[in-house]
Amino acid sequence: MSTSAPSWPPPPVYAFAYGSAPPSGNAINGLGETKWRRARELFHGSGARPLEWEALQSYFGMIVPLRLLLLWMSIRWAARNSNGTVAKRKRVFASPADAAAHVKDVARLFGAEQVGTGAVTEDCVYDSFTITLPHAAVVAVAHDPRDMRSSPDRASGIGTMRAYKKAGRAALKLAKYIRKMGWRAIAYGQSAEVLHIPLAINAGIGELGKHGSLISKEIGTSFRLAAVLTDLPLAHDGPVDIGVEDLCATCLRCATDCPPGAIANEKQFVRGVEKWYVDFDKCVPYFVKTYGCGYCLEVCPWADGGRASWLSERLLAKRAQPAPAPAR
Ligand code: SF4
Ligand code: SF4
Repeated sequence: MSTSAPSWPPPPVYAFAYGSAPPSGNAINGLGETKWRRARELFHGSGARPLEWEALQSYFGMIVPLRLLLLWMSIRWAARNSNGTVAKRKRVFASPADAAAHVKDVARLFGAEQVGTGAVTEDCVYDSFTITLPHAAVVAVAHDPRDMRSSPDRASGIGTMRAYKKAGRAALKLAKYIRKMGWRAIAYGQSAEVLHIPLAINAGIGELGKHGSLISKEIGTSFRLAAVLTDLPLAHDGPVDIGVEDLCATCLRCATDCPPGAIANEKQFVRGVEKWYVDFDKCVPYFVKTYGCGYCLEVCPWADGGRASWLSERLLAKRAQPAPAPAR
């Protein structure tokens, strides 16, 4: 019987090392803090402040495959149109619900596979950002499963960037459309000013899983997000309960499989909120090594978007069953 270590997924052994190690990303993220505060930028920053982990980010830019780099550059280039002129004449909707329904229809035409609307709350933006637009439309685009088959690898990294590009493009077009209706709107694709996961939770896209990513009843967990912030009054869809907590409470799959062991099996306090948290210091170097690891997304039972709705229904039905009578 062979005793050699498995070669896949790649082991958490790195071809890079810090001359002087940066401060822990977990400390910057507020792991263990019981008092609420806003998040600080840490990776892929907006330029609002120097980043402690800048060196690893720069290294990532140097080692990624050319195709991935070109995709990233085209996303950055398109982002120059995130904001623009607002039409003088305002289109007024009968209600925020009507406006949200219209925005969602249009977003789907622009390529969104799921779209929701929600409030922009303080936890949705970094501490260098001021909220001026109170509503968000959040778009989600699923990875192509063919790209993710051998994740984490080059192909899945490129597939991930493709999904980012498609989601970002839908957000750019939607923002432009809203501005043409006379309302302010700014698109946020892979940008650093906003935190897409809390925005998506508020917009009812899904629930946070143990692997630190969102799980959607419509498209599973293998997807990417982009958002449009606007002053167009929109009805809010979230948060939602689709049964994620019930499964994550006992499932160990992502925590067991994560190559660097970054996923904790228990919720932890992060900036005053008890929630699932992924160890930044373990995950991000591995993410860089593998050009954008998403292994935890692919092994999750929710990964198959086609089954996610069924899984949600089963979990909620199970929860609704009366507890068995105590034995006499
Ligand atoms: S993305 Fe991070 S948390 Fe998920 S499997 Fe990879 S290293 Fe682990
Ligand atoms: S793999 Fe299991 S524990 Fe991890 S997020 Fe998915 S359902 Fe939750």
